[in-house]
Amino acid sequence: MSDILNYLKEHSNSITDTLLRLTKAESPSHTKDLVDKCGQVLGEEFERLVGSSVEMIEKIEVGNQYKFTYGKGGDEGQILVIGHMDTVWDEGALPIRQEGNLLYGPGVFDMKGGLTITLWALKALKETSAQLNKKITFLVTTDEEVGSTHSKEIILKEAEKSSVVFVPESSIGPDGAVKTIRKGAAQFLMKVEGIAAHAGINAWDGASAIEELAYQILDLKKLENRDEGISVNVGVVKGGTRGNVIAKEAVAEIDVRITKKAQAEKITEAILNRPVFVKGTKVEVIGEIDRYPLERTEAVIQLYDELKGIAASHGYDLNEGSSGGASDGNFTSGIGIPTIDGLGPLGDGAHTEKEHVDLSNLPYRAALMAEIIQRYANK
Ligand SMILES: [Zn+2]
Repeated sequence: MSDILNYLKEHSNSITDTLLRLTKAESPSHTKDLVDKCGQVLGEEFERLVGSSVEMIEKIEVGNQYKFTYGKGGDEGQILVIGHMDTVWDEGALPIRQEGNLLYGPGVFDMKGGLTITLWALKALKETSAQLNKKITFLVTTDEEVGSTHSKEIILKEAEKSSVVFVPESSIGPDGAVKTIRKGAAQFLMKVEGIAAHAGINAWDGASAIEELAYQILDLKKLENRDEGISVNVGVVKGGTRGNVIAKEAVAEIDVRITKKAQAEKITEAILNRPVFVKGTKVEVIGEIDRYPLERTEAVIQLYDELKGIAASHGYDLNEGSSGGASDGNFTSGIGIPTIDGLGPLGDGAHTEKEHVDLSNLPYRAALMAEIIQRYANK
């Protein structure tokens, strides 16, 4: 067994304490003062455990962000770990409780567990005097659950300087698979304008926006490709005013998911430039790719192989999987930096009342994070 894993197993109770402290500091995305308090707890934990540079980045509309750095070396080629401290839970909405090895509570799995293992990974690297030839930057943002509007810029700025990005978001399934693919996402709004008319008196003078929208929906579905992982969903439709009126207006909200950056341009073109099916109607579409996919590139496959090797040396098998949902890792992968996600703890139920983490596994996930950081800091 490695020194790092040994150290972390010996400190498993303290690791749980860190997670409890972070979870008790509830931090719903929209409640800045609570998120700021959680940030203070996080900063205190970092100082107590790792004790190197802490930088708070003040924000007005969302909670203050934190940038922690550890180890020597310049910015270029740094190792970047990104996480978020905001949760989807309003204060008091979900009680914290422990049942055996399982800790239930708001954000334990998404992603205070991931913040905890990162803090302890750095602590273990420090305590075992691990050789690191690159700087480690741990960036923690505060609006991931509400679209990362206020953090996208700093994430990209840090990623540009990085050789690799680790994302300790929640893992997949009972054995804690890491995420080597996350789909990219795009949202579009389609507005159809028709010509209103009385449905009985002069039906043929009108042009129905609803009828046009119906054709559009069927035509949009032709852009899907299961084999290539491209999906198109019309999730909201609205239109018309009365049963006896030819509809003047109709709108649809369209959600598109892709698995490769190369798919983005073609599908965006196809959605923005629609053919018109019903004479007399006009179709306008606005929207764009919001996040590029987290792609399973050669570099990501190599990263996964290294993680699998570390896991094997700790006595277990590490699998990989994909997620249809996007994370901040999509931003960093989108600019070509090798990114692996799902490094967080074992658990389940993110965003549901069953959200929990398996405490007994925390030392293993912290060791996995520590050893992959160590390897990439010496490449
Ligand atoms: Zn998350």
